[in-house]
Amino acid sequence: MAKKTNNEEHCSFCGRPASQAGLLLSGLSGYICEDCARQAGQIFKEQHPASGKTAPNPVDNEPIPTPADICAFLDQYVIGQDTAKRVLAVAVYNHYKRLRYNSSHQDKNDVEIEKSNIVMVGETGTGKTLLARTIARLLKVPFCIADATTLTEAGYVGDDVENVLVRLLQAANYDVPSCERGIVFIDEIDKIARKSENTSITRDVSGEGVQQALLKLLEGALVSVPPEGGRKHPEQKLITINTRNILFICGGAFDGIERSIAARLNSNVIGFKGDETRATLDRDNMLQYVQPMDLKKFGLIPELVGRFPMLTALQPLDRDALRRILTEPKNALVKQYQELFRMDDVTLDITPETLDLIVDNAVRYHLGARGLRSIMESIMTDYMFDLPTLAKGSTFTVTLEMAQSKLKL
Ligand code: ADP
Repeated sequence: MAKKTNNEEHCSFCGRPASQAGLLLSGLSGYICEDCARQAGQIFKEQHPASGKTAPNPVDNEPIPTPADICAFLDQYVIGQDTAKRVLAVAVYNHYKRLRYNSSHQDKNDVEIEKSNIVMVGETGTGKTLLARTIARLLKVPFCIADATTLTEAGYVGDDVENVLVRLLQAANYDVPSCERGIVFIDEIDKIARKSENTSITRDVSGEGVQQALLKLLEGALVSVPPEGGRKHPEQKLITINTRNILFICGGAFDGIERSIAARLNSNVIGFKGDETRATLDRDNMLQYVQPMDLKKFGLIPELVGRFPMLTALQPLDRDALRRILTEPKNALVKQYQELFRMDDVTLDITPETLDLIVDNAVRYHLGARGLRSIMESIMTDYMFDLPTLAKGSTFTVTLEMAQSKLKL
């Protein structure tokens, strides 16, 4: 019932008078304020996501980007890594096609196109997450990134594996059918490898158990998740998600896997022909020869490896690639600093020798692309401190000598 005291209307839910609650909407026998209406909307969305209006499936109506289109888009942000780009482009293209095909061929006798989950193997800082993030910009399906290191077997401290789906559900705005078409990127998948020294005395809560749980998601199962994430408890309302059409892309550095690749290649190539093959191996980049059996050797369970039909390796970044990363991508580091300077009406110029110096340092300290930013910061921080005092409309040039003095070389 609408409450009225002193002739003032009150919200029938929180009891606040109109003078505090603002606009009140009136019903047959009561009022509701904006805050309560919003809260009610949120509860409905979370508890009965499927009852809300389902977003139209863009995959069914819009033209599907071709693998070449997808690669061209990735090229704007990611330097090199052509093989990985092609593999991702084909995977995403097929993902779209599979969604379209499976939604129009639901007859049991039709061919069912299965998904091709992907593993990307590459040293840290070579662009695995960047590739995944960039592809997310292009996609018209929900996308989320999860970190395998935070996952533990159900019942242990850490995230249940199903929480990966909660993220996707959130990315899909709690629209279950849309979530069921999404793509999940799981980073640091190598960190859930079975550890050989882990014997039965201690439970391997973050290793094999997590792999088993992940396997269930990858295989395509009906999984119940709590809408807000966290642990499931008996009274909680759960949402069921079918993972059959969700594409999983995993990335990991797999430190040390080169040794098992080398051992496998050495034992495979015996005899005269073998010597020839051995001579043509690129010893500096053994990752490119990675095969599913190497992932098994590393500690992923065979069933899980079998669920990733596509396996691709990222190239280590050489000097040339690092130099290009500084200036070429759409949001290259140098462009970001230039933008910061432009906001103070100053043009930033960094000499080519300075850029070479930054790359030399990143190479020397084995920092890869991740190091470029911290080296740039060491050089630029003081200049950015003084930036507001520089004359508007002027040009500020960072020379080799200036950079050397900041890096204390
Ligand atoms: P990881 O392989 O460890 O996931 P990231 O993708 O997080 O590496 O890369 C870290 C940062 O390095 C990125 O934010 C990006 O700025 C830069 N970077 C790495 N690889 C590339 C690349 N191939 N092209 C452009 N930038 C890159």
